[in-house]
Amino acid sequence: PVDVDSLKALVRTVPDFPKPGILFYDITTLLKDKTGFAQLIDAMAAHYLSQKIDLVLGIEARGFIFGPALAYRLNAGFVPVRKPRKLPAPVARVTYDLEYGTDTLEIHLDAIQSGQKVVLVDDLLATGGTMEATVKLVKQLGGEIAGLGFAVELDFLKGRDRFPGYDVFSLLHYD
Ligand code: IMP
Repeated sequence: PVDVDSLKALVRTVPDFPKPGILFYDITTLLKDKTGFAQLIDAMAAHYLSQKIDLVLGIEARGFIFGPALAYRLNAGFVPVRKPRKLPAPVARVTYDLEYGTDTLEIHLDAIQSGQKVVLVDDLLATGGTMEATVKLVKQLGGEIAGLGFAVELDFLKGRDRFPGYDVFSLLHYD
């Protein structure tokens, strides 16, 4: 069994990034640790191994680090969800509210076939706004959402409350 506390010790916290008052959870210190990175991916994969997952979807940018590793481990394909104007073929688009302003995410219209089982992955669950927008995209394409997976969850922000009825899995919890 994976020692969650030793993995948590590999995540660095940086005060006042990207702006004053924000405590940033920096996963680069975990990524560069070969044992920690392998344990993290294996523990996330273990959560889904009993199901047949068709696709792992990763959210730009840090979902592109964990998503493909997880997809490889689950013998699934990988789908990128990207910031605007990066994807070359026709896309579905969702715009969602941030603390200040809005953000947009895009997915290729042919990225998911109706009924495919998809795990949605990002590095960190904070308020859940990013993942909520991504869920909308996947539903629009007819994907069956098998789970929402994160390396890190900031429990005190209660982001998981946005996803009743969904399997929300995070390995490392902070409050
Ligand atoms: P949410 O939409 O509020 O859940 O924010 C989650 C998104 O913001 C994810 O894509 C994260 O990569 C990013 N994010 C928010 N806070 C942090 C943090 O402390 N460390 C790393 N990424 C963060």
